[in-house]
Amino acid sequence: MDEHDDDFCMNKCDGHCCSSYTVLITSEDAIRISQGVKLDPEEYLVIYDSSVENQNFYPTITIQENNVVLGIRFKPDSTTCFFLGDNGLCSIHEFKPRVCQTYPFTMDVEGNLIRMEGLSEVCPYQWWPHSSEMTERIRSNLLASWKEIKIYREKAMAWNKNGKNGDFTEFLKFIGCK
Ligand code: SF4
Ligand code: SF4
Repeated sequence: MDEHDDDFCMNKCDGHCCSSYTVLITSEDAIRISQGVKLDPEEYLVIYDSSVENQNFYPTITIQENNVVLGIRFKPDSTTCFFLGDNGLCSIHEFKPRVCQTYPFTMDVEGNLIRMEGLSEVCPYQWWPHSSEMTERIRSNLLASWKEIKIYREKAMAWNKNGKNGDFTEFLKFIGCK
């Protein structure tokens, strides 16, 4: 199998990571999805206990005295992302979360793409982007992801300071996705 393919995830995988992974997101991902999906955000967004975040990337928020993190709901009775279609493809490809646009890559200090080996074991393929355009798209999404996590951390800090007695609906309004 040629593992240098810009569309490897779409062409050669049935979305393995979309069925194996709790998808945590930022406020900015949530806003983009809510602008593209004609559903109430509470139908597809959810809070998970903060213990699922073991990489110290997404901030913990306090909602009614529970320490939680924001993510995408699973389909009923499964560990499959709400947005994975029956065809094995993401149904919100154009505005899927940054983590889905960059997975399974990160960048070293010199700006080279590297795989998140050791941090995750859920991508079973050693695929790499084929074109320089795709490499650049992933790099730019990683940079955008790091910028947006800072925005979300600031929002989370403000929420935890002022709004921690509010419920999930109020939290979604607070971050600007409702
Ligand atoms: S949002 Fe799309 S790409 Fe991301 S986990 Fe869900 S189905 Fe997969
Ligand atoms: S990142 Fe890996 S597991 Fe996820 S869809 Fe792509 S090839 Fe499949």
